[in-house]
Amino acid sequence: MRSAVNGAARLDDRIDQARRTKISVAIAKSIVRHIADRHLQPGSPLLPEQAMAAQYGVGRASVREALRLLEMHGLVDIRRGNGGGPLVGSSSAERFGETMTMHLQPLGATLRDLNALAIDMQGLLAERAAQMVKDRTADPAKVAEMVEWSHREIAGESTSDLVTDGHAFHRCIAEIVDSPTLGLISSALGHVYSQRTGSGDPSMFDEKVRLQFQHDHVKIGAAIARGNAAHARKLMLEHMMASNAALEKAQPGLTDNLVYWD
Ligand SMILES: [Zn+2]
Repeated sequence: MRSAVNGAARLDDRIDQARRTKISVAIAKSIVRHIADRHLQPGSPLLPEQAMAAQYGVGRASVREALRLLEMHGLVDIRRGNGGGPLVGSSSAERFGETMTMHLQPLGATLRDLNALAIDMQGLLAERAAQMVKDRTADPAKVAEMVEWSHREIAGESTSDLVTDGHAFHRCIAEIVDSPTLGLISSALGHVYSQRTGSGDPSMFDEKVRLQFQHDHVKIGAAIARGNAAHARKLMLEHMMASNAALEKAQPGLTDNLVYWD
């Protein structure tokens, strides 16, 4: 008899838990809708947990579960402590990349597989940016900023930090294209790859190689600014492949490694 009662209690617990999970997923979806509808930018504050619970008419535990779910995916950051609370997340591309690795690991994908796609996407971004310049749909200010970045690197004004500078140049191109899908996927891939290979670490490459990369950027930037799509794509692919070859030379066998969820 006693065990039947315990069994019923456990079942009740499980039903409660299932109900709460269902509610928290619904709340999570509603929070994402709220962020999207209002075009809230990363770092924007969201309602505190208690106010959210009141708004949705649910317990705080359900709201907390919803926020934790979104935090795991980088859509929400939770500031702890006094004056803390939920904010719109600022690492969604990184988290999205990490989620991708959970799926890639069992599939046996290697870092080389992943980088091949990243290279193609960079070529595509350069091609599209140049095409937009040609079609006069590109924002001239963004194009000017991209060209300025490529020259600033050469002038060595920016502490020759390849991570910051190199990524900034590639980010400028993505900004011109301004495609949420391409932008998210390419930065997610870039994040996963550089996290696991240290490809953005300037100390990995000697001065000569780094200077070559910076010259590549200037040429790519100029091709985009001229609106020469085919040339911009070709230069970008050559640049990405050269950078990959330099990485393989610096760390032989590294890109044979499987993509692991870390
Ligand atoms: Zn580059």
